Amino acid sequence: MKFSEEQIHRYSRQMILPGIGGKGQRKLAEAKVFIMGAGGLGSPAAIYLAAAGVGTIGLADSDHVEIHNLQRQILHRTCDIGLPKVESGRKTLESLNPEVKVEIYCERVTSTNIQRIIKGYDLVLDGSDNFPTRFLVNDACYFERKTLISGAILRYDGQLSTFKPHAGGPCYRCLCPEPPPPGLVPSCQEAGVLGAVAGIIGLFQANEALKEILGVGQSMVGRFLLFNALNLSFAEMKIQRNPECPLCGENPTIKELIDYTQSCSTQNTVPLQTSTRTLD
Ligand SMILES: [Zn+2]
Repeated sequence: MKFSEEQIHRYSRQMILPGIGGKGQRKLAEAKVFIMGAGGLGSPAAIYLAAAGVGTIGLADSDHVEIHNLQRQILHRTCDIGLPKVESGRKTLESLNPEVKVEIYCERVTSTNIQRIIKGYDLVLDGSDNFPTRFLVNDACYFERKTLISGAILRYDGQLSTFKPHAGGPCYRCLCPEPPPPGLVPSCQEAGVLGAVAGIIGLFQANEALKEILGVGQSMVGRFLLFNALNLSFAEMKIQRNPECPLCGENPTIKELIDYTQSCSTQNTVPLQTSTRTLD
């Protein structure tokens, strides 16, 4: 693949970076990233991946744009209210970078279609806002051996990790074997979320996706980041593969995908705050 003069201009500020160059830019152009959810996390992630020249971006979301989304879901504009989020998202991404191929899935992602959808992608970003989807995406990525970059937000807090059990790292269930019981963790609808927190965590996801594609820096595999916006503090936990994990452990009990119902719990961040280590 040879770059046009326009492409060289467009990507010049990152192509001069050590670790990118023409070779890295080519890797980005050939990369296919699937984003689950065109909401608070998926919006900033998709925008920055498109701007960076990631060749194919898949966007899945079955919702339509509503006015209360606009406080944080920056793929969408006031004039997009009523449109399917994936349509509105595609419009924004294509106007930012017409070279990017945007594939959209305006359907509920379930155990019956998720493996077919993610099969064609190199990397999965989870920006979903509920536990049933989060577990479904984790399990599908495990079965399809896809790297999963997971983000979650609630109120002023955010969480981030990269799961790569096919390369020896833990999966999401190593951390949280089953969805929490109903009512334990409130949803953003119930508890609220600061838009900027969605932006920060979504961009961390985009940052990790670019690093995974380029093969630069230190991966978030085996690391779990906790962010608090009020103190502007970061904490990091080391996480390991759990031999008793029901999915990727030594005696797995989960052999196929499970559709948990939304009522079993909604949203979002894992209640893990107790055992964190603050970074220096
Ligand atoms: Zn596991």
